[in-house]
Amino acid sequence: MELKILFNSAAIQNDLSIGWGFSCLVDNRLLFDTGEKAVHLANNLDRLKIDLTPLKAVVISHDHRDHAGGLEEVLKRKPGINVCICPNFSRELKQKVELFGGCLIENSDFCEIENNIYVTGEITGTYKEKNIAEQALVIDSDNGLTVITGCAHPGILEILEKVRQRFSGKQIYAILGGFHLMNKPRRTINAIVRRFVELGIKKVGPTHCTGSDAVDSFKKAYKNDCYELRVGEGIVV
Ligand SMILES: [Zn+2]
Ligand SMILES: [Zn+2]
Repeated sequence: MELKILFNSAAIQNDLSIGWGFSCLVDNRLLFDTGEKAVHLANNLDRLKIDLTPLKAVVISHDHRDHAGGLEEVLKRKPGINVCICPNFSRELKQKVELFGGCLIENSDFCEIENNIYVTGEITGTYKEKNIAEQALVIDSDNGLTVITGCAHPGILEILEKVRQRFSGKQIYAILGGFHLMNKPRRTINAIVRRFVELGIKKVGPTHCTGSDAVDSFKKAYKNDCYELRVGEGIVV
């Protein structure tokens, strides 16, 4: 399956919008997160000549602006599209989807939303000492499982454990997205990188809230198998 990065902090060409947040198109039929602003997503879709006609659903990892901020643009381009969220997302986000005519789908547990593409359903994390609901995406391909995370507020290893339990220890091939390791002590970061290696994970793509210290550690451990995930880049999983 091909992944195409639609929002991140670096790009393959300088007419693309970049910033804090993440968005990734999966196999031309599913959008995972929407970046921080509709105007950025609109520009990147236009510059990359991506037609959303085949899109079946948009998955929002969690209710933070850097992931849900571009949602309006998708709802404008694909009226009535399915928007997969978690039950405990804010009332404001649910109202926005309804206002723009999207179809809300709430998953509290694992669900296969497209052939071989799953959401984990709601996992509770914390952000600024409050609970936050988050879900990750899991792609099951010939290479193994690819997990795409938003910010991983519940903890990247906790998310991976949940995926491993659901798929009975099936090999995880790649993990991409935000791992939320900013300001974490070096020993915590090292332990997480070691765990990834121990689990036999082949490719990583740490973005935004992973933080520069953790990104450096992943780069050291994974070398060419650590993706930068620039906007416009395509990756096969
Ligand atoms: Zn984020
Ligand atoms: Zn977040």
